[in-house]
Amino acid sequence: MSGDRTAFGKASVRDAPVEGRRALVRVDFNVPLDSDEITDDTRIKAALPTLELIRERGGAAVCVSHLGRPKGPDPEFSMAPVARRLGQLLDTEVRLAPAVVGPEVERLASTLEPGAVMLLENSRFEPGETADDPELARGLAELADLYVNDAFGAAHRAHATTEGVAHHLPAYAGLLLEREVRALTAVRDNPQRPLVVVLGGAKVSDKVGVIERFLDSAEQILIGGAMCFSIFRSQGIAVGDSLVDEESVNSAGKVLERAEGARADLVLPSDLVLGREFDAETEIREIDGVEVPDGWMGLDIGPRTGDGYASAIAAAGTVFWNGPMGAFELEPFARGTRRVAQAVAEAPGFTVVGGGDSAAALTSFGLADRVDWLSTGGGASLELMEGKALPGVDALMDAERARDGRPAEAG
Ligand code: ADP
Ligand code: MG
Repeated sequence: MSGDRTAFGKASVRDAPVEGRRALVRVDFNVPLDSDEITDDTRIKAALPTLELIRERGGAAVCVSHLGRPKGPDPEFSMAPVARRLGQLLDTEVRLAPAVVGPEVERLASTLEPGAVMLLENSRFEPGETADDPELARGLAELADLYVNDAFGAAHRAHATTEGVAHHLPAYAGLLLEREVRALTAVRDNPQRPLVVVLGGAKVSDKVGVIERFLDSAEQILIGGAMCFSIFRSQGIAVGDSLVDEESVNSAGKVLERAEGARADLVLPSDLVLGREFDAETEIREIDGVEVPDGWMGLDIGPRTGDGYASAIAAAGTVFWNGPMGAFELEPFARGTRRVAQAVAEAPGFTVVGGGDSAAALTSFGLADRVDWLSTGGGASLELMEGKALPGVDALMDAERARDGRPAEAG
């Protein structure tokens, strides 16, 4: 099954009149930095096809992204290292603008020749960014003739660079954003059966909505990671010192109630790997069962659970995986996550993985290119799966309207 068969409905950069024009391209260059060294440039690479397409067709690109969470202009969060890396990857000079908007940035943008690429400073240097300030949106629109959103990872946020500006310029989807939405929507709305959803990790509150959504549409939901302890706690099972998201215990309990008689089987671990502490050198113990004694914490699913999850994944028509099965950063507790990652890599069905840590786990096991789609958007992919609207996608022009080149109505 291919995600490309799902209707997308939004105007694509492939149909944008870029020749001789400037495109403001919202990218997700929120990369991990170690002082000013980029430690993982996956997100920059993911935006290259859209930028290459604009350049090949004789357009110029003005790129904009956020980086980290600065409270205002802060040299520590400058896009300078990103501009350098982007220049190397595109094999061209990428000029870094001194700010996000303003007369000087407008002047620099107006000098861009076809094929040129400029990067604006960190969008979070402007307080209006997260406030979706219309004035900032208008300032951004001054820099270009059209807008392209390729920042899927930020599409769940209604910010000036992801949503506001789309009301002031003809607004198109970038290639990455389009592929993301198609792949994830295919899993959500049109999966090959059986649909097996594997959920783990620690951010339980972000994921409860996804469980609820899939209770009625998946065949199996397999739970691992710290998430299972919020559920066990709600059942009154002893969790020892395991990581429990207290705020989610209530909603976890409700999900369990809803699971009775739902379409999907909600599957919980039946054995666990415990540690004394969150530490690779800690004392380790495997238990058959899930009652965690005091002084111990559950840090991975056990081998029998791993085997069961792997079999379900192998038999799936579609797999969606988000969240590691245990504390995979610590080698003694990586086995369950590796088992699931291996099974997903080998699965004959259509496989989609989302979530920053799940992606990092796949990469660390050397399996990242063995899945059908590895999403660059953690929060955005979960919200799409839940059926929530993504403001950064909704604001784009509808495909039919693309031909007359008018911006969407101000919303
Ligand atoms: P993702 O980024 O893939 O959505 P999350 O951010 O929700 O995943 O969770 C990832 C984190 O969950 C990892 O740092 C991992 O160590 C942690 N984790 C998973 N299982 C456990 C556990 N049993 N106890 C403590 N931490 C866990
Ligand atoms: Mg994470």
